Amino acid sequence: MSGSRAAIIAIENVHKAYGDLKALNGVSLQICQGECFGLLGPNGAGKTTLLSCIEGLISFQEGRISVDGYEVAHHRRKVKSMLGVQLQDETLFTDLTALEAVQFYGALYNTFPSRAEALALLERFDLAEKRNARIGTLSGGQQKRLTLALAMVHDPAIILLDEPTTGLDPQARHHIWDIVRRLRSEGKTIILTTHYIEEAEILCDRVGIIDRGQILALGAPRELIERMGNLSTVRASLRLPAEKLEQLRAAAYVQSLSSDDGLLSVQTSDPQRVLTLLEEIGKETGTRPQNVSIRQPNLEDVFLSLTGRSLGPVD
Ligand code: ATP
Repeated sequence: MSGSRAAIIAIENVHKAYGDLKALNGVSLQICQGECFGLLGPNGAGKTTLLSCIEGLISFQEGRISVDGYEVAHHRRKVKSMLGVQLQDETLFTDLTALEAVQFYGALYNTFPSRAEALALLERFDLAEKRNARIGTLSGGQQKRLTLALAMVHDPAIILLDEPTTGLDPQARHHIWDIVRRLRSEGKTIILTTHYIEEAEILCDRVGIIDRGQILALGAPRELIERMGNLSTVRASLRLPAEKLEQLRAAAYVQSLSSDDGLLSVQTSDPQRVLTLLEEIGKETGTRPQNVSIRQPNLEDVFLSLTGRSLGPVD
């Protein structure tokens, strides 16, 4: 994808420090026109900081960012007109109705939508029937959809979404995913940040894995997973003597294994052969593997293999 489409955002060697803390430590990245790009990383990785730098909301000490050829540091107003931004904790005026909010935001962007245009925008985000509801009475999912609608009030080409589904229930999350897919099919360029593996895998054409202010890996989700050698994880409850664990570990198709309090976890290129071997060893030792599961590799495994840590809980 990056080879076949023009870059619309170019980020070159950006450094942003808060005192000694390097929030961004030499980030270079190109976002292609029309792609949905995901920044995936744990709390404090630098995702919001990077979006804020692109938006021109904060300055940075080193590097350059340009949007459609306009350098952010010198063309803030122009860049702002091209971006639709949904902040992580957007504060909305809870006493306004959804329709009033669209018209208010429209005025902020100098677009002054008519009532009919404001209604059409709400309709695109499945909020038409809530047009006269006060924002304070909307559900979490509806409020998120409204902030998305408000980000689109000036019809920007590029949309930046900072954790668009954090805190939402699965149904509300899927609703947002549908909207993001629709925006992408309309040709918008989308950058979103997320902690959710599934969200990154399902929505994004490419993902940048970010940790401690650095991009550790970049590519299509499948490509990143395949780079790991497509290892699956077999898990089973099975207590094995040390020599049997070694026998398992020595198998050519076993990449690594851990055994913790009777819970065996095996990373392997051939899960079926591991299962067969476990059955055989189980017979020899008079035990049977219980609670067996096979998990396909995902971006969590990529993060784990890059950092030695898991992505961790979502705040
Ligand atoms: P989260 O998923 O929790 O939102 P994030 O990946 O968006 O995390 P950032 O908000 O970009 O992370 O923060 C990156 C680092 O910079 C963190 O260590 C954070 O504490 C620090 N940081 C961010 N803003 C400031 C600030 N204004 N002053 C000092 N440190 C800051």
